[in-house]
Order: sequence, then structure tokens, then C-alpha cells
Amino acid sequence: MYFRKKISFVFSVAILFSVLAISSAQAAKNVIVMISDGAGYNSWLAASMYQGKVGKQAYDRPGWVKLSCATYPLNRKNKPTGNDEQDKAVAYDPFKAWDASRIESKPGEFAGYAYLKSTPTDSAAAATAMASGRKTYNTSINWDNRNRPMIGATIAEIAKSRSKSAGVVTSVPWSHATPSGFGGAHNVSRNNLAEIANEMLGAAWLDVIMGAGNPDFDADGRPRKKPKPSDYTYVGGKKTWELLKNDRHPAGWKLLENKEDFEKLAEGNEPPPAKLLGIPQVATTLQQKRARVTLGSGGEKRPPVEPFETPLTASVPSLAAMSKAAIRALEKNPNGFYLMIEGGAVDWANHANQPERTIEEQVDFVQAVDAVVAWIEQNGGWDDTLLILTADHECGNLWGPDSDKTPYQPLVDNGPGKMPGMKHNHAGHANSLVPLYARGADAERFKKLVKGKDEMAAAVWNISGEYVDNTAVFRVMKAAMEREAIR
Ligand SMILES: [Zn+2]
Repeated sequence: MYFRKKISFVFSVAILFSVLAISSAQAAKNVIVMISDGAGYNSWLAASMYQGKVGKQAYDRPGWVKLSCATYPLNRKNKPTGNDEQDKAVAYDPFKAWDASRIESKPGEFAGYAYLKSTPTDSAAAATAMASGRKTYNTSINWDNRNRPMIGATIAEIAKSRSKSAGVVTSVPWSHATPSGFGGAHNVSRNNLAEIANEMLGAAWLDVIMGAGNPDFDADGRPRKKPKPSDYTYVGGKKTWELLKNDRHPAGWKLLENKEDFEKLAEGNEPPPAKLLGIPQVATTLQQKRARVTLGSGGEKRPPVEPFETPLTASVPSLAAMSKAAIRALEKNPNGFYLMIEGGAVDWANHANQPERTIEEQVDFVQAVDAVVAWIEQNGGWDDTLLILTADHECGNLWGPDSDKTPYQPLVDNGPGKMPGMKHNHAGHANSLVPLYARGADAERFKKLVKGKDEMAAAVWNISGEYVDNTAVFRVMKAAMEREAIR
């Protein structure tokens, strides 16, 4: 009896000390996660080649945890199937992923490409895994495979329960899969966009929502004479839009549309509103969907070859400006904030096999990363903030210029300001590993969650090859927030 008491006393003291040790260690006041949607290693690399910054990006500096992330879903059905069983056929298998054997019946096809293209996640299941820690079926927005909403379980809701502010920013419509998943919406399908938009607008846990999808403008930022009913879907329908436009939405959202207003807020020249809804004057995407024609040397119209050959739409803010404006609104909270920033149109460019737009969109994303890193370093530093950079999945099966003949051919670096040699081999997603970079409070925790090593990925991209599962993103963000609460 005496010994048992003594042992339990020793245990209590040990637990107390470990709690103290955790709470006195670095804890995250702020958690920022940045998702380059549909950007596998080669999309990140292509932009770095174009910028002349291979190995010189912010995330290449000392202090960063550099791993890879596996992105596969629970299963590839488009509705709940009733159990929690992992479909083993889609779980990432490096041996299958790098199988270079030719498929004789299909010229230009290899066994590894075929595997990667037939087993990927969509953005909804990936966002759910990263935002709630649970794998689910494709098209789910924080909805489990037993047909139940994951109420209270998302990182946005957890942030709010810890008195933090929360927000999402994206370069595609803000009710799309990634911002809605990370924003803590719950829906059986990502396709119920108006429902999702209205849940987000009614969500007590969201203080900032920013993204494209403005019904009054077209993809080039020109005013629409008469928007169609479907143009209002992204913002929750025509009724919701009218309430927002007239400052009469019951949740008290303040709508921002002008580029100058985003920039004023970003520079700290305007006091931010309590509930900030930023929808730039453009439909669908900030830039990727703008007209894709330029004039050839003989004056003929042709698709652009080089990034930025077609001028950017001048009336639309950059992702960096929107991110800074969002942070200005969130940083007022002394308990800190949670923010997801998405380069959403890297995916759209990869789906459309537009090499120059893949680079433009990834450059826009990396410039937002630079802006966020600069803010962190000027505002409490890395002890206060956890920053995670990753992708939700690969898209386009992007490889070198002859990768339809030579499987997994590396990209060709043609120098700064020059289009790298690259080729899309698919119009959809691929189940490849994606990069994961993290720095700041609790970032080291990712190293404890490594679940495998991909030797081929290590050799091809000159990385460690160690990978975590995408649910690790939730686990590390949650751990970071809870330690702050203990302190
Ligand atoms: Zn996609």
C-alpha cells in the first residue's frame, strides 16, 4: 500500500514536471498554415528556378523543419461509405509510386504514373485531414465516413474555443474546398458551395474570410452587366450578397472589394473591422483565369509561353497583400490567431496544363510566404508563431520536358527569368509526396510523426525522403495551441 502511494506520488510529480516543462517550452500564440493547392515538389521547384531562388527561398534558411507529406484520402468514394477503414489501395506506397516500367498498351504511360494518377485525394478530403486530423472520403468538408459532421473538431473551431481569432485567405473562391475545410465548415459535399458559404458567414469562429468569387465581376476583373443566378453561388446566393453589399448581414461582416482598401489595411493605415470579408473585384481566381492570349511577332494571337507575358489584372490585390491585410485584422487579439492562406490557383493552372500560370501562381504564393515570414520576424518572432507550408496534393504529374518518354525526368533549370523545361503528364491530381516545411513554436514535433521514408524521392529531389501523414498538420497545430493555453 505504502509503495503504491509512493509510486503514485512519484508519478504525479513526474506528470506535474512534464506539464511544466511543456508549458514553459516554446508555445504558439499564432498558428499560420499556408497551402499551395495542387503543388507537388516540381511546382515549387519550377517557381524557384524561374525566380533564380533554388535553395534560396525563405524555407531553405536554417531553423526550418523540412519533411515530405503523404496526402492520400481514406477512400475515393464521393460520399460516406459507413466505416473508418483505410482503403489500402490508395495509401501511399513508394514502390508503386516510382515504378518506371512501361505500360505497353499505352505509349507514354508508366506503371508509377498510372498508380499516382489513380489513387489521389481531392482538396476536400485533404483539407479535412489537415484541419480535423481525420481521413475521410473525397469531397467531404469536415464530414466523416459514417455520415456525421465533425462538429467542434476542426482547428478553426478549436482556435476559437481557446479565445483566438481565426481566418482564411485564398486566391480562389473562398467557399471552395480548401478554405472551407480549414475554415471549419461542415458539409457532406464540397459541391454545396452556397450552403458552405452561408455556414462560413454564420460561423462564430471566423473573423476573417478573403478570396475570389465576386459575382459582380468577370474573370478579367471587368464589371458584369447582369450576373447570372449561378454567379452568386460562391458567395452564398443573391440574397446573401445583397445583405453583404448593404452592410446588413446579421453576422456583421464588413465587405472589402477595392484593391486600394486591401493595400491600405495591409500597410496598417486603416483600422481593421471586427469581421472582415475581403472579396476582390474578380470572379473565380485572382489571376489564373484571366484571358490567356498574347500577340505573336507577326501580330497573331497565341497562348503565352512565358510567365507574366499576359499582364496581371491590375485591379486585383496580390495574395501577399491580402495575407498582410488579414493578419492586421487578426493580430489585435492578445490571445493570438489561427490563419490559413491558400495559393489556390496553382491547382487550377496544373489542371489546365498551363506551365507559365503554374509558375505565376506559385510565385504569388511564395511572395505571400515572404510577407508572412517578414511579419513573424517583426512581431514576436518564431517563439510566438508556428508557420507550416505544404500542399494538399500534387496536380498535373509535372516532370521534365521529355517526361512522357523518360519517366520522372527532372525539370531543366534554364536560369532566372526563363521558363524551366517542364511538362504536365496529367490533367488531374496525383498521389505523390508533397513538400512540408515548418518553423517556429512546436515545429519540431513533426519529426516525431514521421511514418516512412521514400528513398527515391530523397534521391530525385535531394531531400531526406522522410514523410509524415497529412493528419500530422492538425496534430501539430492542435498541440501548439494547447500548450499556449497551459501557459
Ligand atoms: Zn484540383
